Amino acid sequence: MSRSTVQGHVAQAPGERLEPVTYAAPELKEVDVRVAVTHCGVCHTDIHGIDGDFGVFSFPLVPGHEIVGRVTEVGSAVTGLQVGDRVGIGWQGRCCGECEWCRAGEEHLCLQIADCGTWTPYGGFASSVVVDGRFAYPLPADMAAEVAAVLMCAGIAVYPPLRKYTAGASTRVGIVGVGGLGHLAIQFAHALGCEVTALSSTPAKEEEARAFGADHFLLTTDQGAMEEEEFGFDLLLCTAPAGNDWGNLVMVLTKNGRLVLPAFAPIDLPLGAVSGSGPAVDLVAHQVSITGSFLGSRADMREMLAFAQEHDIAPRIELMPMSQVNEAILRVRQNQARYRVVLIND
Ligand SMILES: [Zn+2]
Ligand SMILES: [Zn+2]
Repeated sequence: MSRSTVQGHVAQAPGERLEPVTYAAPELKEVDVRVAVTHCGVCHTDIHGIDGDFGVFSFPLVPGHEIVGRVTEVGSAVTGLQVGDRVGIGWQGRCCGECEWCRAGEEHLCLQIADCGTWTPYGGFASSVVVDGRFAYPLPADMAAEVAAVLMCAGIAVYPPLRKYTAGASTRVGIVGVGGLGHLAIQFAHALGCEVTALSSTPAKEEEARAFGADHFLLTTDQGAMEEEEFGFDLLLCTAPAGNDWGNLVMVLTKNGRLVLPAFAPIDLPLGAVSGSGPAVDLVAHQVSITGSFLGSRADMREMLAFAQEHDIAPRIELMPMSQVNEAILRVRQNQARYRVVLIND
């Protein structure tokens, strides 16, 4: 393969299967690095991208933003990275560098964030990517590549809010949904010393949730069990992509409790008492806060990687060859992945 071309997988239009494609390697700006991709995880956001959701993706689209690879080229203004370094890259591949949030070191809140996705111009379902070197993170030497790949997006989605809004054993944390994000969140919350409950509509997830570190399991479809937990949680991290009964979730939060949304789940407001719609009685009377949480800063990313390494946080992964990217996407679409698919470049 020539250095000047990239083998990628492209969706030509919203909703289409990815096709193998060869394109000219993007030019390297002075702040950029080029990374030869060895591994790339499949995330729900890739599917939103392929489907053209949110109106921020442009086509043709090469998705992929849970990347691990080796640096092959370094721009003249990059510091701290050298050719040959193993790095991880997540959702964010660059930032404007000029807005108030970038200047404050919170680049994930960049006012130009819609243009900062790693898939712009081309993402990680490919032989190589180009990103701003500040968003290519050196990895702990003995962290498995597929583990690091998943942490780059799923890990940074759940760790910062858990660290920020919990205080060890005194915090009763509920992780809503035991899937790609949820099974990692259970492990992080457990490692942070919290009392952890997994909330799921699938009874069969109980055994695994407990193996990931959940102290308790709560079946969200059991209305009686939910009502017994009224005021039972200080914090709920809602990782389930759909099917949430928001009224019930607000009901089980304690006074001054917090409902954190780290993913783009559809949400119904107002939040009534139990039923899920109607006057926002519990939301107001419990003084509940609803908090969006988007990735994390570059400092959060480094801290998350070190914490995961220290506490042996290990996503459960299915490995597939990059050439089977469409089959991998289908597994994620059909909610069959246990719990995350990572593609390996053949
Ligand atoms: Zn993602
Ligand atoms: Zn900015």
